[in-house]
Amino acid sequence: MEKHIVALREITVWYGQQGIKERPAVDRASLTVAPGEIVGLVGESGSGKTTLGLVAAGMLAPDKGEVVFDGQVVQTGSRHGMQVHRRNVQMVFQDTAGALNPRLTIGAALDEVLYVHRQALAMPLPAQRDARRNELLDAVGLAPDVLERYPHALSGGQRQRVGIARALAVHPRLLVADEPVSALDVSVQVQILNLLKSVNERLGQACLFVAHDLAVVRYMCSRAYVMEAGQIVEAGACEALFRDPQHPYTRKLLEAVPDVEKGLKKRNMAPGIRVS
Ligand code: ADP
Ligand code: MG
Repeated sequence: MEKHIVALREITVWYGQQGIKERPAVDRASLTVAPGEIVGLVGESGSGKTTLGLVAAGMLAPDKGEVVFDGQVVQTGSRHGMQVHRRNVQMVFQDTAGALNPRLTIGAALDEVLYVHRQALAMPLPAQRDARRNELLDAVGLAPDVLERYPHALSGGQRQRVGIARALAVHPRLLVADEPVSALDVSVQVQILNLLKSVNERLGQACLFVAHDLAVVRYMCSRAYVMEAGQIVEAGACEALFRDPQHPYTRKLLEAVPDVEKGLKKRNMAPGIRVS
């Protein structure tokens, strides 16, 4: 097995014409995720987390730098190269409503992804897809009655479960979860986080977990990267990172959330985590 499932090396992304903006959205950022590992990416709004996540997921080609997936350099400049990479990586988004087509029932949304990938999934027959659809619902804790419903008739938490089911449909080796609970009620957040954790434990796919909330990252990840103004400014084990931050920006982030411990307790996240 490769040491890393994904390695981003010195990734730079400019939006618009280079030079018009004074700085790139992502500036020589490097990170790695090991197989089965959940790695955090934290930073304020606008620091470049989503942009780097899109690069990791093969949805955006970097202007500079290298994406290495399972030991192979992804041909980010070629459409085919990006398509191949996208089969291995799936994204879970913050905006649960925007991620689903409002005119498709949940059943149709799941059918769609299974149909598109029918060859790769080796399930050309509708009956096979039906079985897989039920398996996916089961994996994310949804009852079959959601199949007939439209996205707007579901709660945010239920929609995010559908988003996770769709992502899992193609057996990705890496999930990029971009602030997957930021738009959800606090009471629902921990349920979705626990679902992501249990899916990671059962299926073993790796996860790049993007968040601005340090309590959430601490709950989910053993290791994290801190991003400021497009650059990775600090990285390490969460415990050390949050106990003894080295970079002033990390300290500033921690000061903005004065009590990570309290944040965890408020959301019933305290069990299973060591708070030093
Ligand atoms: P984050 O996810 O940490 O909030 P983003 O990756 O969304 O950060 O944004 C990083 C920077 O790039 C910000 O300055 C943002 O305004 C800019 N940006 C993001 N998306 C676009 C886009 N599609 N076009 C132009 N600028 C963008
Ligand atoms: Mg973002």
